[in-house]
Amino acid sequence: MKTIPTPLGIRNACREVRHSGRTLGLVPTMGSLHEGHLSLVRRSGRECDATAVSLFVNPKQFGPGEDLEAYPRDLERDQALLEAEGVDLLFAPEAEDIYPPGHRTAVLVEGLSESLCGRHRPGHFRGVATIVAKLFNLVGPDRAYFGQKDYQQAVLLRRMALDLDCGLELVICPTVREPDGLALSSRNAYLTPEERRAAPALHAALAGARERAGSRLHSGEDLARYVREELSSTPFRIQYIEAVSAADLQLIDSLQGEIVLAAAAFLGRTRLIDNVLIQPQHPDAEETAQR
Ligand code: AMP
Repeated sequence: MKTIPTPLGIRNACREVRHSGRTLGLVPTMGSLHEGHLSLVRRSGRECDATAVSLFVNPKQFGPGEDLEAYPRDLERDQALLEAEGVDLLFAPEAEDIYPPGHRTAVLVEGLSESLCGRHRPGHFRGVATIVAKLFNLVGPDRAYFGQKDYQQAVLLRRMALDLDCGLELVICPTVREPDGLALSSRNAYLTPEERRAAPALHAALAGARERAGSRLHSGEDLARYVREELSSTPFRIQYIEAVSAADLQLIDSLQGEIVLAAAAFLGRTRLIDNVLIQPQHPDAEETAQR
């Protein structure tokens, strides 16, 4: 695996891969890698001839008072993990190389950046879309891999890739979880032992709502209320719980089409997000099963 620190270096290395006729997968990350990240790397390894991973804690997607300085960083450990996965190229730049003096351009995906996490983290998705557009331009991947855990991010970037003719397939991969249901996240490292014990309640509540969708819960509001009630006896402080259309993140009321039930909540100072996909109900499914 080659570790490449400069934009010009990664551009040239990726050009070489493409010119040799090989397909190239890209996995953008902020490092501090866990099995969730590695699941994307492995998927790229299965589907593409070569894989590039980027590792960059992007200052432009952190708001004032957020955890930019505290964000866990361990380049050597990440390098060893990626090397073991057979990754070809690791792009690990410094902020000055990504945003040199005079940098003024940003990418805004209108209508998908303002809801859910965007409402509580102003400017976050503008920062995300800008860095990922730059990565797409530098790497020129055939496929780019993102996690369902950050569902809004994945949908918004898929829209961006279409709108800006990035000419790649954006693949959304399932959320990897601890055995107790907690979604893997680099930020789980912030949790105290007590908070860690409470943390699985978030996914348990979302999964409970999914199980009851269509039988006991009949609207987006019902789903959100159920999660709120389940979390009321836990230390979680809820930031939002919303049921939205999986395709365009618009708030839904009736349970039709594919839905994402998404939540953000704090345990102490740690903000966790999670979501579940709720597939459309088939009114005659029960009848068919009985036949
Ligand atoms: P991050 O390093 O947090 O920016 O995440 C890099 C990529 O890994 C994003 O596409 C995330 O959605 C994805 N990711 C993070 N956690 C998980 C997880 N538990 N399961 C699957 N993908 C994940």
